[in-house]
Amino acid sequence: MSELKIAIQKSGRLSENSKKLLEECGIKFSNGSGVLKTKAVNFPVEILFLRDDDIPQYVEQQVADIGILGENMVFEKKKEVTILEKLGFAQCRLSLAIPREDQYDGPEYFNNKKVATSYPALLSEYFTANGIKAEIEEISGSVEIAPGIGLADAVCDIVSSGSTLMTNGLREVITILKSQAVIIGSNNLSAAKKKILNKLLFRIRAVKSARENKYILLNAPEHAVPEICKILPGMKSPTILPLAEKGWFSLHSVVREDEFWERIKQLRNAGAEGILVIPIEKMIL
Ligand code: ATP
Ligand code: MG
Repeated sequence: MSELKIAIQKSGRLSENSKKLLEECGIKFSNGSGVLKTKAVNFPVEILFLRDDDIPQYVEQQVADIGILGENMVFEKKKEVTILEKLGFAQCRLSLAIPREDQYDGPEYFNNKKVATSYPALLSEYFTANGIKAEIEEISGSVEIAPGIGLADAVCDIVSSGSTLMTNGLREVITILKSQAVIIGSNNLSAAKKKILNKLLFRIRAVKSARENKYILLNAPEHAVPEICKILPGMKSPTILPLAEKGWFSLHSVVREDEFWERIKQLRNAGAEGILVIPIEKMIL
């Protein structure tokens, strides 16, 4: 039977999270250093370890069937591939940054400037769309040092916290694109490979939902239960179980990770006690 070939980054900012995602999907594989490909022992996939820049091309050419990489790279490379799912990690942005001390009054700043970047296609599109005439200097790494060594006047690079820019005396002025890790797929998969892909996507969605949600348990006196039920949306509605102590109940539900602090404050105000928040391993919707 044919295996689905998955390309992931060999080493870099995406590798650990990509491997972790596959492992959390229950896929077991060995990944000794220096290994370029490996077959999973319990799922019909083969994992290829590549440079992230090469993944769109390899998926287009069907050297790999699917790949995990940043949207930034997918949009830069413009290959014939399809984004199948956003993965919620490696959040970052592609931004223009200038020397800290330079005056900045708007995008016209970049007219007649030389800008260093590893993203020439996206930057050139941005300049064209905004009527800016600038020179693009393509370099493959350590873009942030370009102004300091006199190679360029400004940079267009990946930013997350902004600390690398700051260390290099640069200041972010425009965000061109927001990005996160995604799965891309070939547009020409066989029926057998599509079947494996659908199984994998089902597992990935379960892992993603689990990461985005928490299981919450709390105790409440009977009179507080209706109000607490309103605050706890849950997948359907909260589970309510009587406690051994008369007039008290335990309520169980699921809340989104990004809103649970807000909910917890509301729940306490409504009379909830002994609140426990527990990670969910898999969540099938
Ligand atoms: P390779 O050797 O595979 O070409 P690379 O050095 O080009 O690796 P990395 O720096 O590992 O690439 O970044 C890979 C991807 O991770 C980027 O394309 C981007 O999507 C994301 N990324 C980069 N920097 C950050 C960051 N600071 N925070 C979050 N995500 C980031
Ligand atoms: Mg790269």
